[in-house]
Amino acid sequence: MLNNFFSSLSRDIGIDLGTANTLVYVKGRGIVINEPSVVAVNQKTGQILAVGDEAKKMVGRTPAHIVASRPLVEGVISDFEVAEQMLRYFINQVRKQSLKFLSRPRVVIGVPSGVTEVEKRAVEDATRSAGAKDVYLIEEPMAAAIGSRLPIQEAAGNMVVDIGGGTTEVAIISLGGVVVCRSLRIAGDKLNEDIILYARDEFKLLLGEKTAEDIKIAIGSAFALEDKVETSMRGRDLITGLPKEVIVNSDHIREAMKRSVKTLVNAVRSTIEEAPPELVADIMGRGIILAGGGSLLRGLDRLVAQETQMPVKITEDPLTAVVRGCGIVLEDVDALKNVLVSTQYQEPPR
Ligand code: ADP
Ligand code: MG
Repeated sequence: MLNNFFSSLSRDIGIDLGTANTLVYVKGRGIVINEPSVVAVNQKTGQILAVGDEAKKMVGRTPAHIVASRPLVEGVISDFEVAEQMLRYFINQVRKQSLKFLSRPRVVIGVPSGVTEVEKRAVEDATRSAGAKDVYLIEEPMAAAIGSRLPIQEAAGNMVVDIGGGTTEVAIISLGGVVVCRSLRIAGDKLNEDIILYARDEFKLLLGEKTAEDIKIAIGSAFALEDKVETSMRGRDLITGLPKEVIVNSDHIREAMKRSVKTLVNAVRSTIEEAPPELVADIMGRGIILAGGGSLLRGLDRLVAQETQMPVKITEDPLTAVVRGCGIVLEDVDALKNVLVSTQYQEPPR
């Protein structure tokens, strides 16, 4: 009786620990945290000053002894201690909100496909030392596919392209497993860098990272737009050292990102070329699903469709697909055990 009562108090959470954003899903409640994966640290004292949105505002604006850093690079943990502290902060936020979390939660957390054992281990260890009781790993494209409600357990090909901040993951999934996958380090961050380089080379203008990202989101495109749009680019004149503003249009920005976008699309193509023909036939029928924030780049879906000759669809709410997938797994870990990466799942005590 008492046991039943305790097991009805679910304390399971799903985490999408992304290079750009971290999201947390609580079983029965949905997404409760959605913030940038940024931590501001006072280097003199080692003290954490801010996490998430608040820390992101500080990027590029801190005094010398404060660093706003991103603990993940290209999908994997690059600064273990900071990553752990960030996870601890987010997990504690959730635990504070509910009495159910007096005890330590079970966590389903995404890892990029194709990462090394050591990198997986780092995520698992950081999550555990941040306060989790049990940790289950799931490959991010698998989580994105589940979050997109694709029938991943069927014997049929489902293709997902998850374009995040640090990496793009291309995966073909069938029978609950990843059949072919490819991960490349060209994603949202690289496009921002392309814009910074373009501004430097074309206009002798030094742009900040955040400005470059804002421009990409405002007028960036992968396919020629019907209506050209313009925006102003503000930065520092590299010659005079003074502030400068330049007006750019969507054609300029598309040109700036062209090579990276091409590499990305080629990776999708070559993944299809590697796939068994039966799966390719399935994907032709079902289409390629795009997920992750990068999929929102205007016209990218059209370009991928043109270059692969496949139907392409952006998943609903692409920035939350991975964490929603983790959430679906949480709701029924038993039925979806086969999609998890780690094998340490144990039956919960009854
Ligand atoms: P991650 O999983 O690596 O944390 P996300 O899936 O959260 O990444 O996506 C973040 C990336 O998506 C960032 O590089 C951001 O610039 C990009 N992004 C978000 N919205 C848009 C948009 N409307 N157009 C183009 N890129 C976008
Ligand atoms: Mg992601």
